[in-house]
Amino acid sequence: MNDKTTPRKVEKLVAVKGMNDILPPESARWEALEDRVRRLMHRFAYENVRTPIVEPTALFVRGLGEVTDIVEKEMYSFEDRLNGEALTLRPENTAGVVRAAIEHSLLYNGGKRLYYFGPMFRHERPQRGRYRQFHQIGAEALGFGGGEVDAELILMAHALWQELGLTEVELQLNSLGQPEERNAHRAALIQHFEAHHDVLDEEAKRRLHLNPLRLLDSKNPAMQGVIEAAPKLLDFLGEASKRHLQTVTDVLTANGVAYRINPRLVRGMDYYNLTVFEFVTTKLGSQGTICAGGRYDYLFEQVGGKPTPAVGWAMGIERVLELLKEIGHTDAGPVLDAYAVVPDAAHLPQVMACLQTLRAAGVSVQMQASAAEGMASMKAQFKRADASGARYALIFGADEMAQGQVTVKALRDANQPQLSLALRDAAQWAQRLQSNA
Ligand code: ATP
Ligand code: MG
Repeated sequence: MNDKTTPRKVEKLVAVKGMNDILPPESARWEALEDRVRRLMHRFAYENVRTPIVEPTALFVRGLGEVTDIVEKEMYSFEDRLNGEALTLRPENTAGVVRAAIEHSLLYNGGKRLYYFGPMFRHERPQRGRYRQFHQIGAEALGFGGGEVDAELILMAHALWQELGLTEVELQLNSLGQPEERNAHRAALIQHFEAHHDVLDEEAKRRLHLNPLRLLDSKNPAMQGVIEAAPKLLDFLGEASKRHLQTVTDVLTANGVAYRINPRLVRGMDYYNLTVFEFVTTKLGSQGTICAGGRYDYLFEQVGGKPTPAVGWAMGIERVLELLKEIGHTDAGPVLDAYAVVPDAAHLPQVMACLQTLRAAGVSVQMQASAAEGMASMKAQFKRADASGARYALIFGADEMAQGQVTVKALRDANQPQLSLALRDAAQWAQRLQSNA
């Protein structure tokens, strides 16, 4: 039993390593970015989709490929304690969106453009720009085969960088071709790496015959030379694949979007074909990719659907926000319109009725805490009003209340005269307090 006189010390619990709390004021930057992205998606006619965070493990094993970093070592997988089902916290959301599209026959009358926001989970070594729970914004265009749609997605991301003032992101582009072309390349790759077997690390040796393309993705510095010299997939492309890439670059050129063909660019999942791309910055160290994607025309079949062309991208929200901070762009949330200064707790019911009217009219207003915390002195309340960032102080003093009025004082503009306004007309003057009025 717990002895009341000697309270038992309870161990402090902390968040799981690599999984972060997102707290104010930082969370306001997240909201600002999310709001911006919602408006952007709407302009491009992408609709929101929300799928579960937990999916059957088989979805990722079959969708992403068994011999990939994510499936081999990064997934949070567990067995449902009640029914033994093999489950996984989603490490990415393209497979989940495709599963949902198949399950609900979303494409019954043509293509679908979708976007999502949300947490993803990968068991990686936590460092700047790399977390175990991180967040992505993703866009997927399902049921469209033309390179114009690949380009549309790239233009959409580009439009976001422009809006955010992110000018120093490089667009890298490559084509992974089609399965037959990849098979020919694969044979050439194996031959090349076998000839340099001595410089391969253990992982590369193991993957060489399983999935040689993965070797190109290796971050081992000792292997960069042999990777650089490896046969390029671009040289194995047939006419149709080349034309597809040309379509993409034609649209980019017509829009004045710069790009660099990077023949070494491969992605971490096996589901990609034809177009792959990344937006890369040099300002975040080795975690420089802020958005990545490509075409995945074979994923639907791989997870049990009908053949369906598709293309998409995902961006790392943490990395985008870190980059914005790095270049000094801090898109903070909206400012508070008003702060209610209330010297006497007895007036709170009446004051709160007025605040309710103001809020219904769209005004954001913070109230001095209740009588339970003790009402602070007028001076202290003004200090808090100032610290809150509010543009106006609403002073509900005893004199004002006696006359059914409130004094409105501008906190950020010394030239604005103080006003006395009638409480019962609050709905009429509410507009004046709003920043957009
Ligand atoms: P990297 O090569 O940096 O490991 P990736 O190829 O594994 O990235 P994707 O699976 O393509 O990344 O995910 C798309 C985007 O999500 C990345 O470009 C990045 O911005 C972000 N991202 C991926 N993994 C993480 C992580 N562990 N923490 C934070 N952001 C991440
Ligand atoms: Mg990764």
